[in-house]
Amino acid sequence: MKYTNESNQIRWGNAIQNNYGVPTISLARGKGAVVWDVNGNRYLDFLGGIATSILGHAHPAIITAVSDQIQELSHVSNLYMHEPVLRLAERLTSFTGEESARAFFCNSGAEANEAAIKLSRLTGRTRIIAMAGAFHGRTIGALSITGQEAKRAPFSPLLKDVKFAEYGSISSLKRLISKKSAMVIVEPIQGENGIVVPPPGYLQEVRALCDKHGTLLCIDAVQTGMGRTGEWFGYEHSGIIPDIITLAKGLGGGLPLGAMISVTKNSPSFSVGDHGSTFGGNPVSCAAGLAAISVIEKKFLLDRVKKIAALIKSELSILPGVVEVRGEGLLLGIVLADEISSAVVSQAAANGLLLNAAKPGVVRIAPALIVTDSQVREFVTKFSRSLATIRERGSQ
Ligand code: PLP
Repeated sequence: MKYTNESNQIRWGNAIQNNYGVPTISLARGKGAVVWDVNGNRYLDFLGGIATSILGHAHPAIITAVSDQIQELSHVSNLYMHEPVLRLAERLTSFTGEESARAFFCNSGAEANEAAIKLSRLTGRTRIIAMAGAFHGRTIGALSITGQEAKRAPFSPLLKDVKFAEYGSISSLKRLISKKSAMVIVEPIQGENGIVVPPPGYLQEVRALCDKHGTLLCIDAVQTGMGRTGEWFGYEHSGIIPDIITLAKGLGGGLPLGAMISVTKNSPSFSVGDHGSTFGGNPVSCAAGLAAISVIEKKFLLDRVKKIAALIKSELSILPGVVEVRGEGLLLGIVLADEISSAVVSQAAANGLLLNAAKPGVVRIAPALIVTDSQVREFVTKFSRSLATIRERGSQ
């Protein structure tokens, strides 16, 4: 039997929980920044598995790394050492520039933040300050520090001792922080909240406030990490050094992998028995992550990301109906004059371009870091056409 986008919707509805709704497109294969659905339609993938598939689909370096690794050693648990986890930990901790940095590996962003929450308890303090609008994951701990009421409300009571400051406002944080605060957690750019960029100097001031109160500063770089913003970790543009970093998404080069890194000497460290994860740091995901890092380095993708971002910003910000293109590197929010992002995203899919409606008036793009110049041109053409179609329809 040949499955189609339409027949797979029925299968999904009959077998999978409805937490994502029922998607309309059923993907079959991909190559680089292009994917094909089961009906044979081609799409330019400018969402990259929500900022995750940093080298796109079927990258030869990932295929080789994963195939070689799985033939050698697949899963062993953390009762044993192996080369990929050691090497990846060495690379990541060296990127922080701090000799005291130590990694804990898990499988997702939510788990990385759970680890950070637990680590912060080792200070002897329990209070956490997170940001309104923030997204840190869906598990109970990560949800407790997620500043989006609609996601939290059905699952209360959540963790106590969490307060939300206004994102980007130092005066708001000042009102909440005290010597009883264990940790402040903040995204360098709020991804799920619609690519919200804080004012210049914000992270430096957050760092100074945390220093003043002996409070840990955790940067959630799950969405902004692994080169996406043109630096390894999204906070680096600010020059600060966080006490803790959380990572996932691009970390595994498209495979499931998360990490919590205690960076500075201010941060406590886990002792034997404090925390764990069966799959965390498994050889195959770590091998894929190492391959991704190596390609980013060899192809100078951090510089390229910055150049592509500048090009996209200049091309899109002059389009009628676009107010602003905000964000850093290849994590960009196209702010529209009207709340039509869902319609634009559907129209773009019909035109063979995958995007995401992060907010009613904001379209998010987070393509693979390996997008080619011609794919960037194709994106600009298809996006402009999709936006124009929806605006014309609205004016009729
Ligand atoms: N933190 C941030 C900043 C995120 O954007 C996300 C996911 O979108 C998460 C944490 C949660 O990651 P995961 O879905 O892997 O649990």
